[in-house]
Amino acid sequence: MRLALAQAALAPPTGDVPVGCVVLGPDGSVIGRGHNEREAVGDPTAHAEVQAIRAAAASMAAAGIAAPAGAATAAAATAGTGAGVPVGTTAGVLAAPGRGVLPGAGVPRSGGVHPADGGCRVGGALSGSPRSAEGGAWRLTGCTLVVTLEPCTMCAGAIVLSRVDRVVFGAHDAKAGAVGSLWDVVRDRRLNHRPEVVAGVLEQECGAVLTSFFDGHRDRVPPPTDF
Ligand SMILES: [Zn+2]
Repeated sequence: MRLALAQAALAPPTGDVPVGCVVLGPDGSVIGRGHNEREAVGDPTAHAEVQAIRAAAASMAAAGIAAPAGAATAAAATAGTGAGVPVGTTAGVLAAPGRGVLPGAGVPRSGGVHPADGGCRVGGALSGSPRSAEGGAWRLTGCTLVVTLEPCTMCAGAIVLSRVDRVVFGAHDAKAGAVGSLWDVVRDRRLNHRPEVVAGVLEQECGAVLTSFFDGHRDRVPPPTDF
């Protein structure tokens, strides 16, 4: 989450709401980064999560692989004691104080192997079968998306479509959150993919970044009604 907060800090200079996101690969390394750039690039879809997902998919494709289904089980990462979970990456994120775990978190949805047990790695020793030649390199199976603010409906949809295995977010968004607050898109049983959710990691810190931004802009421009 600290890495996601660092991404959020890149947004304000362009007038964008400070939301940051990183995607961790199956081995816990960062394979995608993004921050809200809606104002900077004039693109209403340029939310931090979408930017990070695009970068992560490009990294996976560049590596010529995609994780095998079920890689990097959620249980190992949640416990933070799973063999092969790098310290300071996934385990470190989840070890942050003040986190809340929503129902279903920590429960593996399927079997599979952790990268340390023979799964693929991005940029490392590759043991998965190449997906680029047969399609599917866009799948972020085994990956974890970490974002400072609860995703909106668009980003929640992108998360489902990208096949990310886990979503970790900081501040809840009571007005537009689609990962449990206003909607719960990612755990809708009608969809064919439901990532695990860990909510409220460094929530106060993530929320303070947004509060500070809006306090600073209150006298200059009207706050946006959505972000
Ligand atoms: Zn969004």
